[in-house]
Amino acid sequence: MFKKIGIVGAGTMGIGMSVDLALHGLETVLVDVTEEQLQKAEAEILQTVRFAPLVNKKLPRLQADEVRARLHLTTDLDDVADCDFIVENVPENWSIKEPIYRRLDEICKEETVFGVNTSCISITKVGGVTKRPDRIIGMHFMNPVYLKPTIEVIRGYLTSDETVANAEAFLAQLDKDAIVVNDQTGFVSNRISHLFMNEAAFVVMDGVGTAKQVDEIFKKCFGHKMGPLETADLIGLDTVMHSLQVLYEEYQDPKFRCCPLLKKLVDAGYCGRKSGQGFYSYSN
Ligand code: NAD
Repeated sequence: MFKKIGIVGAGTMGIGMSVDLALHGLETVLVDVTEEQLQKAEAEILQTVRFAPLVNKKLPRLQADEVRARLHLTTDLDDVADCDFIVENVPENWSIKEPIYRRLDEICKEETVFGVNTSCISITKVGGVTKRPDRIIGMHFMNPVYLKPTIEVIRGYLTSDETVANAEAFLAQLDKDAIVVNDQTGFVSNRISHLFMNEAAFVVMDGVGTAKQVDEIFKKCFGHKMGPLETADLIGLDTVMHSLQVLYEEYQDPKFRCCPLLKKLVDAGYCGRKSGQGFYSYSN
């Protein structure tokens, strides 16, 4: 059984991971670069944990003090050194992820598995900057983490069977199942879904339909739960843009070129739900 989990990055996914770990009674060390972001994350974690049993009656009602007692906030990456399992959730940018893996490899126990919560970046590439490529595995959690029962797990070229079993055991503690796929940039989910979201942005840019119309066609005509642009807002438009850049660089295929409207929204600070504005407006 895993007891103490290191979560690196306290943004959309780090917050979501911390909520799920709290709801399952695990101790969390949550790392970010600023105190300000950690305070924001703590407030959001407490609020989501409080509402979680209203959304899913099977989830426990926890007191804020219980959550706080198991949640350690820190700006020092070295504080995750004694954790049993690490999930990294920093931005989808290799220049940010790479030094983190190099440092984690130095400070963590030899047997510790690193779960890479990336949208697109190759797991084999992450493994390549560590001395433990067999213990690196892709864990593509979905947002909001505590409501998603299944995640895409990615086996890097050198990921061992033991690591896959460890990742599945960790997920079982969170009442989640894994669909294990092989490694290639974007994996299954995002290699497909990002084309979808990007093309939806092009449709809006070309004036064929509004964001609302595009999403309604997917929901009302195709029966999807969410439209592609609502999904992009939920993920974060900056994250979608960075993922498209990773896909484009890797495959050198123009089908992954990022829609200029998407870039413009990100330049304007419109990053979707987390910033209060994206294709839609949100009152935080
Ligand atoms: P985000 O921008 O919301 O959060 C990233 C956080 O990492 C920020 O709080 C930032 O301050 C922090 N950070 C930056 N540098 C750091 C460092 N050196 N050490 C510690 N923290 C640092 O991004 P996100 O949406 O949470 O995405 C994180 C990762 O998860 C990305 O690789 C993304 O592709 C992937 N992902 C995102 C989603 C989604 O729906 N948003 C889903 C699955 C996977």
